[in-house]
Amino acid sequence: MIHKDISDPSYKGYNNYGAWLREKYKGQRVFKVIVDGGFTCPNRDGSKGYGGCTYCNVDSFTPSVSRNNPSVREQVIQGVERARKGNKADKFIIYFQPNTNTYAPAHYLKMLYDEALSYHTEDIVGLSVGTRPDCIDAEKIALLESYTDRFDVDLEMGMESIYNDTLAQINRGCSHDEMISALKLLEHTKLDVCVHTVFGFPWETKEMMLAYAAEINRFPQIKFVKFHHLHIVEGSVMGVKYKREPFKLFTLDEYAEFMCELLPLVRPDLVIQRLFGLSDLDLLIAPNWGLKKSEIQYYIDQKILQKGVVQGSAYQEAPIFI
Ligand code: SF4
Repeated sequence: MIHKDISDPSYKGYNNYGAWLREKYKGQRVFKVIVDGGFTCPNRDGSKGYGGCTYCNVDSFTPSVSRNNPSVREQVIQGVERARKGNKADKFIIYFQPNTNTYAPAHYLKMLYDEALSYHTEDIVGLSVGTRPDCIDAEKIALLESYTDRFDVDLEMGMESIYNDTLAQINRGCSHDEMISALKLLEHTKLDVCVHTVFGFPWETKEMMLAYAAEINRFPQIKFVKFHHLHIVEGSVMGVKYKREPFKLFTLDEYAEFMCELLPLVRPDLVIQRLFGLSDLDLLIAPNWGLKKSEIQYYIDQKILQKGVVQGSAYQEAPIFI
């Protein structure tokens, strides 16, 4: 729940993941170590399509230091060392991030997850797996649940949009109905569910985007959210189209204003892992807000505080129909 003590310097007006981690792990510094398991996606390899989601260049959301690492073992060892030295991290969450990290048979996934979790075991506290809703089934959920006796396990799924029309336009190869089916499978499991959304598709109006909150709210199995503004990156289909014919994207101020409208609608217990995304600048085409990640975070946080925005203040439970 949100701490309402506004004199507390960590007060932000929303449940931020940093504060949540500090509380959960009793002040220890916990960092995610990104691991590339060498997966692809069903809308890349032809089973559901080619080319991937039109806004995606998988390298754009993988920090350059995590790319091209030869083995899971080395990625974990190097990632932990980097976080220890660079960020003075105490504990680590192994984060399978790039592509679709459940897109393989369960026995193969087990081999990979086991390998990643077998180094620095005393300091690994969690496993986080990024995937798509159409690559989740009961067997894979059972596999992930088998780690929960030793680790906190979160399953991060790209919802991206709640509109099937948008999902079709971005070549997602997966409908919102499939998202709902996956969420139903995840009801009453021991996994912490995180959903990822993208705001700013040029054909979605503000009202359409604000409606994401009510859709997310109605699934109590969702514990974390990651909000992301649409950015256009090199190596993506949208990037090619944008260069040919640029379209309107959020300015930083518009996005911060949008967050101020969205957050009051968001269920008060949801923990917000991220308010925006940022690709490496060498890949970013637009919008380039000209600020570092920490400066963007500060800008949005200040706007939220200045406006007195409180997560969930306008949240309404969905009516129960009998
Ligand atoms: S956004 Fe995710 S599912 Fe879509 S192509 Fe990129 S990695 Fe694959």
